[in-house]
Amino acid sequence: MSERIAELATNLARVRARIAAACQAAGRERSEITLVAVTKLFPASDVIALARLGVTDIGENRDQEAAAKAAEVAAAGVEVRWHYIGQLQRNKCRSVVQYADMVHSVDRLPLVETLAAAADRYRERPLDVLLQVNLDEEVQNAASGNEGANGASKRGGAPPSAIPELAEAVAAQPSLRLRGVMAVAPLGADPAVSFQRLAQVAQHLTAIYPTATIISAGMSGDLEAAIAHGATHLRIGSGLLGKRPSAR
Ligand SMILES: *Cc1c(COP(=O)(O)O)cnc(C)c1O
Repeated sequence: MSERIAELATNLARVRARIAAACQAAGRERSEITLVAVTKLFPASDVIALARLGVTDIGENRDQEAAAKAAEVAAAGVEVRWHYIGQLQRNKCRSVVQYADMVHSVDRLPLVETLAAAADRYRERPLDVLLQVNLDEEVQNAASGNEGANGASKRGGAPPSAIPELAEAVAAQPSLRLRGVMAVAPLGADPAVSFQRLAQVAQHLTAIYPTATIISAGMSGDLEAAIAHGATHLRIGSGLLGKRPSAR
């Protein structure tokens, strides 16, 4: 256990150094960046250890796992903010709104309605929401047409053209707060090109909804490119926690 804490501390120092260097290169303040530790497939003890190391934003991509982990962490008396970053099925909304502080993966109109109804019923405060932008068609086809094996479409997100309508739907819900956008850089394309496009989508959104200022972009492999293009929230898994155990 203490060996694990030392390992997490070492990884965290390395990630923080990368973030600091990227901020400096981009002329941005470190305080503009929130580090979200993606703990999927790792135990609640890792979340608790990260919290003690000062990382209190935690990302998860599956409801069942996240709900159990959130309960375990809360029972230990440790307070963190939970970010739901995975594809969200409508039948999971009721559960997710009870522990998540922010959902990064809102990508279709029916989901907005179900999520809003669940948030209205099961939360005291509005739920922060990001719209997930799918850049696969635009960026990936432009690059190499690299599709298939990694299932571009499986990763979710709405095309940029669908974002205004989604934003309007979220903004109309008192139980939701539109906070910005999220994307995963398409495989096989230059992440800088993807994040530049995401920044453009974000800019259009912020022009209409001034509080939608969050750009959730950048993972372990591409955080520098994300920071260069305006990311405010990084979702870092393996860079902090190590290689993920394989999914059951
Ligand atoms: C797993 C995951 C991450 C973290 O990826 P790493 O490459 O391990 O940093 C980030 N975002 C999403 C949506 C994920 O599912």
